[in-house]
Amino acid sequence: MFARRDYIRDYMMIPPGTGEAAVVNVIVEIPKGRRSKFEVDKVTGLIKLDRYLYSSAVYPGDYGFIPQTLAEDSDPLDALVMVNEPTFSGCLIEARVVGIFRMKDNGVNDYKILGVPNKDPLFADIRKLSEVPAHFLREVEFFFATYKQLEGVTIEPLGWASNEEGTTEVRASVERFRGSLGNVHG
Ligand SMILES: [Mg+2]
Repeated sequence: MFARRDYIRDYMMIPPGTGEAAVVNVIVEIPKGRRSKFEVDKVTGLIKLDRYLYSSAVYPGDYGFIPQTLAEDSDPLDALVMVNEPTFSGCLIEARVVGIFRMKDNGVNDYKILGVPNKDPLFADIRKLSEVPAHFLREVEFFFATYKQLEGVTIEPLGWASNEEGTTEVRASVERFRGSLGNVHG
């Protein structure tokens, strides 16, 4: 029997921003290329294997969340980071927001911030959606549109929006998180 270890004190104690405009902290849960869906367990604070995706599909980038945010699905705001080499679960990436992919998961807004590693010279020229290879955007859209199909979950893709709209969503999710703190800490 172990005491509940509040994950707020772990991953969620990291600030959402880095001090640089439009650059956020992303905690990776699922490395690029993996089909296993890992996520931070809210009870133990450990990285937990939630499930092996039912669909034969792999994450198109490192995938995780921005700490100290709360999205409309009651989880931290999700983020996908383009990487040349997968990192690992629990890795912190300083990511520049280049866009946002909006979708609904079973009718609930479930947005994905798209970012690139801020200090990676291979991504230095990518600051907005138009600078991302168009095919990568199609891959991401197709991945999210289909990855839960065999689970019987309905995903409604709503399309891509700009880096400014991505940053606005980050700010709104930080505000939502701050507004919820009374509830979280009881
Ligand atoms: Mg989510």
